[in-house]
Amino acid sequence: MPDHASRSHDLLDLDDRQLLVELQSFGVRVAEEVDLDLVEMAAGAPSSRRGGAGPSDALFLWVRGLPLTVPKHSGYVGGSPYEIRSSGGTDLLYRGEELVGPVRLPRRPRIYDMETADGIPYWKIALLHLDSIASTVVQRCIYWGTPEQCHFCGIELTRGEQTIPVKTPAQLAEVCTAARDLDHAVDVTLTTGSLNRRDRGALYISRCAAAVKEASGLPIQVQFEPPDDLRVLDEVHRAGVDAVGIHIETFDPAVLARVAAGKAQCGVEGYFSTWERAVEVFGRGAVTTYVLLGMGEDPALIEEGCRRATEMGVYPFVVPLRPVPGTLMENAEPPDADYVASMYRSVSAMIADAGLDHTAAKAGCARCQACSGLSAWERLTKKEESPDVADFFSVRT
Ligand code: SF4
Repeated sequence: MPDHASRSHDLLDLDDRQLLVELQSFGVRVAEEVDLDLVEMAAGAPSSRRGGAGPSDALFLWVRGLPLTVPKHSGYVGGSPYEIRSSGGTDLLYRGEELVGPVRLPRRPRIYDMETADGIPYWKIALLHLDSIASTVVQRCIYWGTPEQCHFCGIELTRGEQTIPVKTPAQLAEVCTAARDLDHAVDVTLTTGSLNRRDRGALYISRCAAAVKEASGLPIQVQFEPPDDLRVLDEVHRAGVDAVGIHIETFDPAVLARVAAGKAQCGVEGYFSTWERAVEVFGRGAVTTYVLLGMGEDPALIEEGCRRATEMGVYPFVVPLRPVPGTLMENAEPPDADYVASMYRSVSAMIADAGLDHTAAKAGCARCQACSGLSAWERLTKKEESPDVADFFSVRT
C-alpha cells in the first residue's frame, strides 16, 4: 500500500498527470482475479455504476494517492492499455505489461449492509462516492424520452432494482447520517432530474437538504437546472445548502443545442445570469458548473466561457465525456487525452488567476475532484508559484 502523503510531490510529475488523464479517457479493465466483492456485492450495490446522474460507468479508486473515478463498463474500455490485476492481496495497475504501481479500491461501505425500518436498503437511497455520500433524489427528468433529453445522461437508466425513484427527506437524513458515522463521509451531494419548468426540482431537493443538514450537520451541495425565478436560490440557501451545482455542460452554443436541447432553452446567457445571482447568495467558489470535453466543441469557446465563469466566482468543473452504455452517446469516442490535458492546464490557470481553489470547496464535485484531473493541475500551478507550499497539497485518502 503506498504512503499517500509521501506521494504528494510525485503527484506533480508530468508522468503522473498524464497517467490520470489517460485513465479518465481510456478507462481501466479489471482482471477476473481482482476481488470487487469487497465493494460490489451480490445484492447489487455497486462500486461502479452503469447509469444515473453523477459518476456513472465509473470505478472508484485511488491512484498514487489521488481519488479517481475511471470508466469501466463502456465498450471502448476494452481497448484501454490499463488493467488492474491482483497479486498477493495487492491490487496493481498495469499499462500493457508495464507495472505502474499499486492502486487502492474502496472497501465496501458499512451502510450498504443497512436498511430502513420499512426494508429499503440504504444503497438504494444513496451511494458512497469515496468520501462523499451522494443521491439522485428524483430519478426522472421531464426531458427524458423526448427530443430535449441530454445525450450524455443516464438518469432514468438506474431504476427498478437498483434504486427507488423518489427519495424522501427522512430517508436521506437517515442514510447520510449513518454514512457520516460509519463510513466517514465528509459531505453530501444531492442531484435531481429536471422535475418541472419552474423551479426545476430545486425546491424539493432543498427540502431534502434541510432534513439532511438538521440530522447530520454535513456540508451539502445540491444540483439543479436554472430556475425560472431566481428567488428560488434564496430558498435553497435558507434550507442550509452550502454550495450549488448548476451545470451548463458546454459553452459552445451549437453543441449545447445539439446534445442538450432542454438545457439549451435557457441558453448560455441564462446560465450566466443564474450564476451571477447564485454567487451573490452562496459566495465565490461555492457555485460550480460541469463542463464536458469531447462533444465536438470549439475549444476557444470553452476557454472563453471558463474565463468568464471563473472571473465571476464560478468554479468550472472540467471533465472528459464518458460515453455511458444505454445513453444516446453510448457509441461516442472519449476525448483525446492530450486535448483534455491542455484544457486542464489552461482552466487551472484561470482558476488560480480568479483566486478560486478546490481546497476551499465545502461540498460537491469541486470538493471531491475524483471525476476530473483538474486538481492535479491546480496543485502544479500552486507549486510553481511557491515551491515551499508543496507539502500543503498532500492528498486525501
Ligand atoms: S436535464 Fe439533462 S442531464 Fe439533467 S437529468 Fe435531465 S436529461 Fe439528464
